[in-house]
Amino acid sequence: MIGSIPERKRKELGPTDDQYEGENRSKTSPSPKRLRHPRRQGNELCERCAKIDLDEALSREHLTVRGQLVKSLGPVKKWAIDSCSLCGLLATSLPPECRSSDSTYYLRSFSSKRDPRLGWKSIDTNMIGFDGCAFFVPQHHDATPVRSLKPDSIDFEILKSWLHQCQEMHTKTCTARTSSTSVPFMKLIDCETRKIVPASNHVYVSLSYMWGANSGIVEYSESLPEGLPPTIEDAITATRKLGFRFLWVDRYCINQQSAEEKSAQVHKMDLIYRNSEITIIAVAGQDPTYGLPGVGQRNRSEQGCARIGKHFLISALGDPRDLVKKSAWITRGWTYQEGLLSRRRLVFTDQQVYYECYGMYCCEALNFPLHEMHLKSGQSLQKSFCEGENIGIFPREVGASPWEILERVEEYSQKSLSHASDILNGILGVLRAFESVHQVGHCSGIPILPPPKTRARLATDTAELSPWNACTGFFIGLCWDLEGTSNRRPGFPSWSWAGWFGRISWEFNEVKYLRTDPGIKLRLELQDGQIADLDTAQESLQKLNASSALSNIIRISAWTTPIQYRRSYSRINGEVECETRVELEDGGYLHWRFHPTTSMQLSTDQAYIGIHLAREPPSPEGFAGPTGPALMVVCDVGDRMERVGFGWIRPIDYQMYGADGVGEYDDDEDGPPLMVNSFYARRPVLVKSWQEIRLG
Ligand SMILES: [Zn+2]
Ligand SMILES: [Zn+2]
Repeated sequence: MIGSIPERKRKELGPTDDQYEGENRSKTSPSPKRLRHPRRQGNELCERCAKIDLDEALSREHLTVRGQLVKSLGPVKKWAIDSCSLCGLLATSLPPECRSSDSTYYLRSFSSKRDPRLGWKSIDTNMIGFDGCAFFVPQHHDATPVRSLKPDSIDFEILKSWLHQCQEMHTKTCTARTSSTSVPFMKLIDCETRKIVPASNHVYVSLSYMWGANSGIVEYSESLPEGLPPTIEDAITATRKLGFRFLWVDRYCINQQSAEEKSAQVHKMDLIYRNSEITIIAVAGQDPTYGLPGVGQRNRSEQGCARIGKHFLISALGDPRDLVKKSAWITRGWTYQEGLLSRRRLVFTDQQVYYECYGMYCCEALNFPLHEMHLKSGQSLQKSFCEGENIGIFPREVGASPWEILERVEEYSQKSLSHASDILNGILGVLRAFESVHQVGHCSGIPILPPPKTRARLATDTAELSPWNACTGFFIGLCWDLEGTSNRRPGFPSWSWAGWFGRISWEFNEVKYLRTDPGIKLRLELQDGQIADLDTAQESLQKLNASSALSNIIRISAWTTPIQYRRSYSRINGEVECETRVELEDGGYLHWRFHPTTSMQLSTDQAYIGIHLAREPPSPEGFAGPTGPALMVVCDVGDRMERVGFGWIRPIDYQMYGADGVGEYDDDEDGPPLMVNSFYARRPVLVKSWQEIRLG
């Protein structure tokens, strides 16, 4: 017998056969799935399943994560899904499209003790399932590690118990850090009156969802409009069932017609999400017409369960985080920071609700001993239950160190935005959180990085290298590279990653090895024509960012080197490289290759300049060998210079030639290869001159 367990039976799991017979028939509205798979009474098994010794499989010893084979089940399309209770049960863990497939599955038995995911090893039970798939767990009278969920309703008491547990235990980990009064113009939905009210010190819930392709701007009004999209309506219901009255939803709480109100709140998105008691995350579907499964009209997919012999087996459902990872929600730009900045998240998937705060995670279907899984201090789960550095799928707070801003921007650059112009707005909350938590300022998205905790002692660490200051942090922030070549994003500067479409990464080894030249300088041109020195403007940078007083133009004083463009070519992996000639002080030269940022063809007639951004001197550990500076390659576009590429002067990226043109290391037709090892011994010194570059 397959199906969800009826309400009145849920408290007495471990029933006898006849208790369950006919239960599903009495349900008034059978789901389409039930009609497709009418069940026979009793617990008949097909010939194959009758041979499976479940008693043995569910009591044997397991020494590996992978478990042990119970039986090869052959192609799914040959399973007796409609007539055999075990075949039918197992099929519930497969996506519908797999049910007529030729794929062969192997039934395996596992020990929960061996499974490192989701807290399974906090309990001790054997279960059956497929490799990497949902498990089926036997239910006993005395312990119910898997909860039976209803497709059409959620037991909010479970969700509330997580919230209470967090509030009581994670007193240091998950408490709000800021006062909620600091967001100007902030408003909330009063879920009782359906009016939009000004926020003062209200306790509220926030919503993270996808706007969808067809969403225009909602005209701001002081009461909620009629006919709200199902996701919004369900979020109101969920807010009330969680015991709250106020809900924040961007589309209804921000007056989009007022540029001032909009900008003030977009700049404080970190506070809006951090201060909310909990964030409802709608990961199912593509837009707000989908609803929150299990709250309103939309049902969740059914959780399989069946009595097989003396065992009552129930599906533990799949890892809900896999559904998050596959969702459209995770691919979107705006929702990235919403998930990240929230202290507590309730993720509504098509199967169950998943919770994650800064201290723990929980699944609605899994009833694990949360207290026992915590550290003695109660502040968070024990490390063995955490996912590496993080608790679950979200980074712990915005980041454990200031340097994690680089990872956050890299992650964000992979997300998609409906409006290209939102590129900075969509991550301002994260940038601001790094400002307030880690004192990392930014300029058009380029972080002004603080010194690393430890700086490596380097073989050539001499006074020629600068002490760390704001300009050092900014120059290192400029060392980003695009995954391929790309086009300019209008309205943003070429020196910032925000000025380009595409996925970026910062290109250096550990930061403790990085150095910049003494005397480097950054001056910012303001909208009103004034010029601010970064050294002195750093304090007021946050204000300058918030008031949009900065222009896209910066002036960089640094060493520069002329770059003669020779040709471009694609490597086997499709990466485009530009080969250049760079003169050396001793009369020799390099054939140096850099990554073009722009997809536009460079020209041999054009003058290019490499701005020396940072250096990675040889380290005692000896990686990379003698390394020259990182160069931002720029060219003149009239009243300013613009970035066209980036690269490091690293031995793998150049061939060095002596003044006579004889290569020290040469793999093409220009000269015979000689003294291949010698390039590690000599560091190329580029011809260079000091200048101020006006960069836009
Ligand atoms: Zn069967
Ligand atoms: Zn917590």
